[in-house]
Amino acid sequence: MNNPFQNAMHQLERATKVQKFSSEFMSRLAQPEREIRIAIPIVMDDGLLKVFEGYRVQYNSARGPYKGGIRYHQDTEINEVKALAFWMALKCAVANIPMGGGKGGVTVDPRELSKNEIEKLSRGWVRLMAQNIGPKVDVPAPDMNTTPEIMSWMSDEYSKITGDKTNATFTGKPIENGGSEGRGPATGLGGFYVFDILRQKMNLPESCNIVIQGFGNVGGNAANIFYKNGHKIIALSDVEGGILKEDGIDITALNEYRKVNGKIIDFPGSRKISNDELLTLECDVLIPAALESQITEKNAKDIKAKLVMELANGPTTPEADDILFGRNIPVIPDILANAGGVTVSTFEWEQNLKGEHWGEDEVFSKLKVIMETEALGIYEKAKILNTDMRRSAFIIALERIEKATKI
Ligand code: NAD
Repeated sequence: MNNPFQNAMHQLERATKVQKFSSEFMSRLAQPEREIRIAIPIVMDDGLLKVFEGYRVQYNSARGPYKGGIRYHQDTEINEVKALAFWMALKCAVANIPMGGGKGGVTVDPRELSKNEIEKLSRGWVRLMAQNIGPKVDVPAPDMNTTPEIMSWMSDEYSKITGDKTNATFTGKPIENGGSEGRGPATGLGGFYVFDILRQKMNLPESCNIVIQGFGNVGGNAANIFYKNGHKIIALSDVEGGILKEDGIDITALNEYRKVNGKIIDFPGSRKISNDELLTLECDVLIPAALESQITEKNAKDIKAKLVMELANGPTTPEADDILFGRNIPVIPDILANAGGVTVSTFEWEQNLKGEHWGEDEVFSKLKVIMETEALGIYEKAKILNTDMRRSAFIIALERIEKATKI
């Protein structure tokens, strides 16, 4: 079985072969500062007690409080959470925001729980973690299958337990409850800003053919944004499989179709395809926006995209990175491409602490400056070092974390 934490450490090793860092610093980064496991007891709707396993990994705090989402998924386990927490530390450094890296989760298939049970589970997670999180300590956020409503319950529970009224311990809250304007589309939009500033440098046309794996918060918003900016989405998928329409999918109509039918499969005029087929379609840009370890040594040689942009966390294994680099297919790495989410989350935290509420235009223009600046920096550094953008992004992040560690 694929171990995401091993992949993350392998990526670290790959990058530090290009530029060396001290062995003291490397040994600090080889493991998280703290790893917390909890057992959350819930009385289910049928009156029976069930215990769920939960996690928080606090990887590195050299640059600020730990920051990272909480994932609810049946396959979530400690190695996945550790990898995600490590990537968060690097991602916050790439975005140059004053945060460290953390991540949380619960091993649960939320589709099997009622809304009432999910609320109890979420409040239970906070009760057991409350001593280890807080606005100046660790600031969680949503991730896969966790929503603004869940953040609202968590924030409420935290405030009941600790008396803290800043609302700054959880981000990704609904706007009425201290959330930031623009947090919903932030990850997809941040990815678009990165793509748009690098597009010409990569000799890609003004209107690109795009393939997206995943149609949730990140993939769905990315589809809307790329579509509205004149690009053609030729294929899309979700957990049930994919759809292909060579002359382009009308994303507005697809959103309507999903609202009515609760699925994207069988969208009129499209052909059904498997997720495997989707990943190897001929296109300008392939955007994995669902799960880890989707592009591996098994399918990397068959990828026909001219550019891979990772909106999911960890969708490409290190072995696949080597194959794609050898085939001159650039990869915009997750720690840059999807950093828009944590960046706007940090804006939310800042607004909560200052008692401010910024308008959407202000949020987006601040986000754009960060994403474009860091994208250009990583692109140029990769050219100078004659390496791929993942290694260049790692090196920039490591330099920043090392500097903060020394200070
Ligand atoms: P989500 O739960 O909203 O959506 C996930 C999507 O992936 C859904 O459309 C689901 O049907 C699809 N999916 C699940 N299994 C699949 C499979 N086997 N094949 C194809 N599609 C599949 O989650 P999200 O928030 O959009 O997160 C997606 C990825 O982006 C994750 O890797 C997450 O860590 C990362 N990410 C999210 C954010 C954020 O702001 N939400 C920020 C940074 C990174």
